Amino acid sequence: MKVAVFSSKAYDKKFLNAANEGVGHELVYYEPKLDETTARLAADAQAVCAFVNDTLNRQTLTVLSQLGVKLIALRCTGYNNVDLQAAADLGLTVVRVTAYSPYAVAEHAVGLILTLSRKYHRAFNRVREGNFSLDGLLGFDLQARTVGIIGTGKIGMVFAEILQGFGCRLLAYDAYPNPHFPQLKRAEYVTLDELYAQAEIISIHCPLLPETYHLINRDALAKMKKGVIIINVSRGALIDTEAIIEGLKSQKIGALGLDVYEGEDELFFQDLSLKIIQDDVFERLLTFPNVIVTGHQAFFTQEALTEIATTTISNISDFAAGRPCPHQIRYQPKS
Ligand code: NAD
Repeated sequence: MKVAVFSSKAYDKKFLNAANEGVGHELVYYEPKLDETTARLAADAQAVCAFVNDTLNRQTLTVLSQLGVKLIALRCTGYNNVDLQAAADLGLTVVRVTAYSPYAVAEHAVGLILTLSRKYHRAFNRVREGNFSLDGLLGFDLQARTVGIIGTGKIGMVFAEILQGFGCRLLAYDAYPNPHFPQLKRAEYVTLDELYAQAEIISIHCPLLPETYHLINRDALAKMKKGVIIINVSRGALIDTEAIIEGLKSQKIGALGLDVYEGEDELFFQDLSLKIIQDDVFERLLTFPNVIVTGHQAFFTQEALTEIATTTISNISDFAAGRPCPHQIRYQPKS
């Protein structure tokens, strides 16, 4: 099957080509992001392979459908960037990578906590400059800290297990509680308000849905402890960045670790080091000494990329062979 791979980088090519070896799909790589203006690159392809910041709205999907594309193979877990109703209307099948190394993302979230709590980023620069002073590097133990986890699915559970190892007390909120979570040591489900009131560190591991859009907003911040550390490795729009900036300025928020950002589609996955960044909200975030931002790299491990590529190729093969695909996203109209 001919597949147009959008937003492709050298690493996508490497891992997808390896997974495709002996399978034989015709993978054609395009660097541009997929949107209604670039969709025409998929002419002659029966499938499109897309990533997190590609825009799969009704306009893009309509162009793809007119070109004869039948399959949208997402090489990611989240699908908030796809208009599923439009895909269903146009008869397009949408598949995704439902699971890949949850360790990659959970470990990255823990890395952000440790960076903020022990100030590794500052220590790295200092030592390189021959400055071995410890002033300003005072940290705190994670042991016995109360950590709030929003979303206890695959990633949230691994995150919880790691923090259990640090001796943390774990509070979680999930719209669909996971029976395995309360079996962990010092772990219990609470309401979102209780989580906000008690947690010293809050990490978000739920999907971006209409009901979770700007979950962390001014109201939520008002309910949190002073000095709370907030970690978001899930999706940028789960937090209202302007409210977060106010919280950082007032010192309600003690530290912030982000791997995702609401306006990231204009920034991430590209080298802008010689460009003038126009996003003032993002630039303001970077001025705080207690903020660390990584550019959506939580998934970026060898293990995760291998699993993403293998599942993507297998999803495409299922579709090409007319087999049911276990990773198909089915559109469920709201009743
Ligand atoms: P998952 O589906 O296994 O878990 C999501 C959990 O969120 C589930 O337990 C679900 O019940 C819960 N949930 C759903 N609605 C909720 C709500 N309104 N409030 C609270 N909890 C709710 O997904 P996962 O594999 O653990 O991934 C979680 C998220 O991580 C993904 O949706 C994706 O956005 C993000 N992610 C980020 C990266 C990255 O590189 N930064 C990589 C992979 C996934």
